[in-house]
Amino acid sequence: MNGQTPYNRALNKLHTGHEYTYDTERLIIQKALRGPIRDTGAPPSMNGVSDDKKELDRFLFREADRYAEDCMDRHVTVGTENPLFIGASHCPITGNTTVAPITTGLYSGISGLLLMYAGCYRVLGDNKFLTGATQTLDTLSYIDRNPKPDIWFGFTGATSDIYALSIASRILPENMGTELQSAYSKHLIRSIHWLTRVTRPDVVGGLSGTLLACVAIAENGVCDLTDQLIEDIYFRISRPWVPTEKTNLDLGQLGMAHGTVGVYFAAARAAKYLGYTSDFTVWVEKLHEAGWTLLRTAQRSADYGSVSWCRGTAGLAAILVYLDRRSGEVHPLTTATLQWLFDNSSLAEGRCLCCGVGSLVDLLASLSSNSGTTNRIPTMDWTKLIKRWIAQPQNPRIPTDANYLGSMQGTSGFVYVLLRLTSRGDDLPSLLTLDSF
Ligand SMILES: [Zn+2]
Repeated sequence: MNGQTPYNRALNKLHTGHEYTYDTERLIIQKALRGPIRDTGAPPSMNGVSDDKKELDRFLFREADRYAEDCMDRHVTVGTENPLFIGASHCPITGNTTVAPITTGLYSGISGLLLMYAGCYRVLGDNKFLTGATQTLDTLSYIDRNPKPDIWFGFTGATSDIYALSIASRILPENMGTELQSAYSKHLIRSIHWLTRVTRPDVVGGLSGTLLACVAIAENGVCDLTDQLIEDIYFRISRPWVPTEKTNLDLGQLGMAHGTVGVYFAAARAAKYLGYTSDFTVWVEKLHEAGWTLLRTAQRSADYGSVSWCRGTAGLAAILVYLDRRSGEVHPLTTATLQWLFDNSSLAEGRCLCCGVGSLVDLLASLSSNSGTTNRIPTMDWTKLIKRWIAQPQNPRIPTDANYLGSMQGTSGFVYVLLRLTSRGDDLPSLLTLDSF
């Protein structure tokens, strides 16, 4: 495979799964490989945009609309089939960029697009985004047709798709998505039988991500998710997988996406939801302990990972802000983490939510939203940070010859944060902690 262009790899991959003609496939891939607008067209200028909130909002609306349109432009419908979504993915191990159909999971799947279109409909109020949402809903029904156990778990699994659906269905007109959502919930409840097969505790691909999503789905209150399911996952996570007290954990082993902090957060949130008050206190204490270690480890490495969502202080800060907001008190670790993170914001590169400036901007959106009472925004010029974010390439560590559509690495997450920054969108839930609506 090495040495092949993304285009050729995509053709190979498409041949195995679809029966389109070669010419159709070529067209589809060309569409997907067209670089993102920021990297192909003229970069947007924020010159002349003052710090005035209304003027900034207008700029953000315009940018969100432009990028959302660019995403809609890439939907491909072949014949009478459901629209096909092609995305690029990059494997850091082989260095290969692959262009392939986008599938499950909010991390980089179709539901990120659904959520983004729903957000655009809510904030920008334009009916054209309902078309985008309808097409993503049609394609999402693959879960209904294919309820295999291995597609369910974590931020990359179908549970996170249902989380996105549960938010989108509170925004979109009543007739959209409800049927699909109830079908999904049935699968989710049935998936309990598969729980024993899951061997990962982490947020991105394992039980913690599923647990966070399930709690939020239940809190969103749009489908009948049983507390029994949440309880079963909670007990599976808290018994065999209490992370051992290993020393010298690296950022990956500590962080939100793959590490202890993410697992403790999911356990704490489920304990709170289930009313296990003393469990909740224990999980939060453990989280703070692991959080101090994460902060010190980040300070030592001081690279882009140390300010990321997945492994660094941006993920930790998002969790701490979430917890402080509910406890009504500011923990010293929150203050220390936010201070260090924003003092070192220049370490972050690229637009994306996972390992880029996007995670810091999303955090600022949470800190400045009206629902917050406790945390104060660290003293910094945040218009300057937004300007820097907007001007970034999608992700300097992945090839720019393809557009990444998904939430955490690509355009739909970028648009979603643009919306959250505006005064009309500041109640949209943060994806960094899978908040409820
Ligand atoms: Zn990341």
